[in-house]
Amino acid sequence: MINFERVSKRYAEGHDALREVSFEIARDDLVFLTGHSGAGKSTLMRLIMLMDRATRGKVMIDGVDLARVARRNIPGHRRDIGVVFQNHQLLFDRPVFDNVALPLIISGYDYREVGRRVRAALDKVGLLNKERAMPLTLSGGEQQRVGIARAVVGRPRILLADEPTGNLDPELSSEIMQLFEAFNQVGVTVLIASHDLALISRLRHRILTLREGRLVQGAACE
Ligand code: ADP
Ligand code: ADP
Repeated sequence: MINFERVSKRYAEGHDALREVSFEIARDDLVFLTGHSGAGKSTLMRLIMLMDRATRGKVMIDGVDLARVARRNIPGHRRDIGVVFQNHQLLFDRPVFDNVALPLIISGYDYREVGRRVRAALDKVGLLNKERAMPLTLSGGEQQRVGIARAVVGRPRILLADEPTGNLDPELSSEIMQLFEAFNQVGVTVLIASHDLALISRLRHRILTLREGRLVQGAACE
């Protein structure tokens, strides 16, 4: 599903953020990505989302070489990928429903389909009764669930999460990870960048570790 072949990324200032990184993530995988701050985790995710391009090597998603995706096809590529951020990036002046609906509205779904899908996604994250709530009235864990509902509402095949539990206590973090596991179990490929080694080592999924842009652990499926 996600395939990196000797991928390097050098930023304009000459800094090598990724160096010859190779790995494969299968369709039914849930994989953690870890490493020190500045190791290259966000850069790796940006390449998958086509927010940036590799300097060398090949990034393949579902058999498509991303170097061959033209600029005008990038929005279509991104619709297949749900993204969850640490700080949710919610619209705080809009209720939960509107926040989750946003990707569907942008894609031009009709309003009935939007309502159906938003409620299905909120149901999956346990927030069906909060659709009219304003984000600031929700707890941190609930806000993160809204972010997850928004990421999956378009039924993406890939879910990327960048430090999704960064601001949460251990119990809430476990609950959020269980949600990712549930989406993985219905066929979504999941890649989660996290610093929380205690949590991710307990969960027993494959761990990719970056150090100064090099993959030092987890390249092969065990
Ligand atoms: P991580 O997510 O693991 O903290 P990043 O991928 O954000 O790591 O960063 C990897 C390295 O690339 C860091 O040294 C960072 O300073 C550098 N970097 C990230 N983005 C840019 C950019 N847009 N321009 C130049 N250097 C960058
Ligand atoms: P429906 O088929 O009515 O849209 P589902 O119960 O199948 O509802 O899914 C509800 C929500 O759960 C979807 O809108 C989506 O957010 C998420 N979801 C379920 N299955 C998948 C999947 N295979 N890939 C991505 N998201 C999914």
